[in-house]
Amino acid sequence: MRGDPSWVAAAWTHPLAQVVGVDAEGRLNTSASRIVMLAPTGSYDPQVHHLIGTLGEAPVFATLIEAGDSGLRTVMDSLPDADLQLALTAVGLIGWHRVAGFCPNCGSVTNPSAGGLARRCPSCGLEDYPRSDAAVIVAITDSADRLLLARQPTWPPRRYSVLAGFAEVGESLEQVVHREVGEEVGLELTGIRYLGSQPWPFPRSLMVAFAASALGTELHPAAGEIEDAGWFSRAELLTALESGVVQLPASASISRRMIQAWLAGDLSAESVG
Ligand SMILES: [Zn+2]
Repeated sequence: MRGDPSWVAAAWTHPLAQVVGVDAEGRLNTSASRIVMLAPTGSYDPQVHHLIGTLGEAPVFATLIEAGDSGLRTVMDSLPDADLQLALTAVGLIGWHRVAGFCPNCGSVTNPSAGGLARRCPSCGLEDYPRSDAAVIVAITDSADRLLLARQPTWPPRRYSVLAGFAEVGESLEQVVHREVGEEVGLELTGIRYLGSQPWPFPRSLMVAFAASALGTELHPAAGEIEDAGWFSRAELLTALESGVVQLPASASISRRMIQAWLAGDLSAESVG
């Protein structure tokens, strides 16, 4: 239906229609751990009102607002799943429209199309869609089933996580896993297996999670990229968490789910995905 501009315009005036506001920094408004959605005001403007979809009968739009009160990273742990899914889509879509105003083919100003899920160039006809940058995130264990955790210098103090990195052009995801882990800590891997994935709109990633076994345990952290890296047994990690020496990523992140799954002794697609 989103291909029919008159249907989308009518959806804006639907009595159950709702609007999610996202600001230029990707912040939304939340109240009592729910996303605040408001009834549409004013007339439908396809330049700024982007149809996400329908929740039951209710059309839901996203639009750019002056200022939201909550960054997605800070509220993601407290949002119910349905709200988090909506927030990930709204933040990703609004973030994309902010930077996709010009045709990547000919440079002309583009216009939203398909109810706001795409943009179309009036000069060359190119249809442009929001892209996701593929990134891998990998939980590496050694022969004693210890988990490798590392921290980047730009992270909050004491934050540790599993390794991650972006796919470069022409690479398979498995190649990214080998290259990134080789670059970041100098380990060779075997037994790479898929665990699950998560959209991560900061600004537009799709995190693809893997488990892998390390051939060896010697670590060579890349200067400037990895500030510290080490192997943790379950008991060592629990002690480090209790004392506050190590802090983990947000609960709703796939990195955290991977670490929790390993702590529970079940690093599998069923427990992570
Ligand atoms: Zn063009």
